[in-house]
Amino acid sequence: MTVRVRIAPSPTGNLHIGTARTAVFNCLFARHHQGQFILRIEDTDLERSRPEFTENILEGLKWLGLNWDEGPFFQSERMELYRQKIQALLVQGLAYRAYDAPEELEAMREVQKANHEAPRYDNRHRDLTAEQEAAFKAEGRKPVIRFKIEDDREIAWTDLVRGKVSWKGRDLGGDMVIARASEGSDIGQPLYNFVVVVDDIDMKISHVIRGEDHISNTPKQILLYEALGTAVPEFAHTPLILNQAGAKLSKRDGVTSIADFQAMGYSAEALANYMTLLGWSPPEGVMEEIFSLDQAAQHFSFDRVNKAGAKFDWDKLNWLNGQHLRRLAPSELSQQLLPVWQAAGYEVPDDAVWLEGLCVLLGQSLNRTTEAPAMAQTFFVEPTFEQEAVDHLKQPNVGIIIQTFEKLFREWEKEDLPMQEDLWKKLEEKIQAAIHEQISALGVKKGLVMKTLRMALTGTKSGPELVPTIALLHAHKEVAKRLTQANKIIASMSGSADT
Ligand code: GLU
Repeated sequence: MTVRVRIAPSPTGNLHIGTARTAVFNCLFARHHQGQFILRIEDTDLERSRPEFTENILEGLKWLGLNWDEGPFFQSERMELYRQKIQALLVQGLAYRAYDAPEELEAMREVQKANHEAPRYDNRHRDLTAEQEAAFKAEGRKPVIRFKIEDDREIAWTDLVRGKVSWKGRDLGGDMVIARASEGSDIGQPLYNFVVVVDDIDMKISHVIRGEDHISNTPKQILLYEALGTAVPEFAHTPLILNQAGAKLSKRDGVTSIADFQAMGYSAEALANYMTLLGWSPPEGVMEEIFSLDQAAQHFSFDRVNKAGAKFDWDKLNWLNGQHLRRLAPSELSQQLLPVWQAAGYEVPDDAVWLEGLCVLLGQSLNRTTEAPAMAQTFFVEPTFEQEAVDHLKQPNVGIIIQTFEKLFREWEKEDLPMQEDLWKKLEEKIQAAIHEQISALGVKKGLVMKTLRMALTGTKSGPELVPTIALLHAHKEVAKRLTQANKIIASMSGSADT
């Protein structure tokens, strides 16, 4: 069998993580079976659908690498097909026109409520005579189209995630509306449960993979497949994404749209990896937790998709994003960070070797690209001294340490940097050796030297690893300059003008 699957988002909002995760599962399943992945935009809700949401959905899917093989198809352009199929059901007597006024339906529900019955349509217009119909029409009533659902039907399917699922016809709410009433045409706007089946048949969908919230639609859709005379596809209902409290993840939990994750500095690869893990677990011993979509596709199957909802975990996503960043070559990371630094207003030097050196240093602790401006600030902006740094500069022996290194780096600035592959390693070794030498020459503790250099060069007590930081600053002649500056601060504090 050729596997053909689809993602069918409604453009009534931006691409949501739940839809994106369903798209991931569809895409992985299609790729695993060398099948086709189809994109269908379900824009029948004309009031709520908007072109900018469609745009956001297409962009989000592309960004995540969920490239579709066919489409996008737009339901709004397929109305004629849906009306033809409804007409066929009417002719076969499988559907009928119902003329109930809203207040009549309301009254019916009130009675059901009073009797503690579940709300349902009682099929009262199923067998209208021609005279009754004519009378309703004469009153100016506009009919909906209802599809017949027999109470005594038992509908069952074997869900690829949930196993055997079965429903009784009587629990489906009575004959269902498949087209709204309309002022203009004979058949009004066709509705979701109907058009989705017509499309899935027309597009030869073999497996319907979608969120668990659609389970209750499935029995109704199975009856429609039967009525339309086609085989029923396989179904896989994937678990919902939950917040930490176990409720369905919603806007109240903060970020839920893919574009927001992108803006927060998550990479497409890491987010796709994380979404795959929301519900699926890779087979043990075969692949690790950090993977690309192609790697996951090799092993993807519904046997390893959980029934239970998947809890969204920011810490895990951050960790995973960091892991993906650490797997990038310095040049790739540098390409990603350059625009982030530029957007932060930093004047980034045109020096690829230096930028890659900086990426190697920061990449060790970077989890999201948006953290990069704060982490790299000291390399692009003159330091401002925190109170703690100022206090440190007042300590005995600090002045002499600063002056000694200032002189040393001033000398080194006269030499050219050795432009070799292990430039940074060599430079770091040279700095390490100088630090050791000065510790014994000045008779001070290593901790004092390190703290002094960090405070004097960066104005703060914490930051990236010190020796590589010094190497990078020195490469752009920032060390001697900053030490001179620190020296001036000491001098001004001690009330003396000369340094
Ligand atoms: N348009 C539906 C949604 O966005 C998807 C329907 C389906 O997959 O059957 O939830």
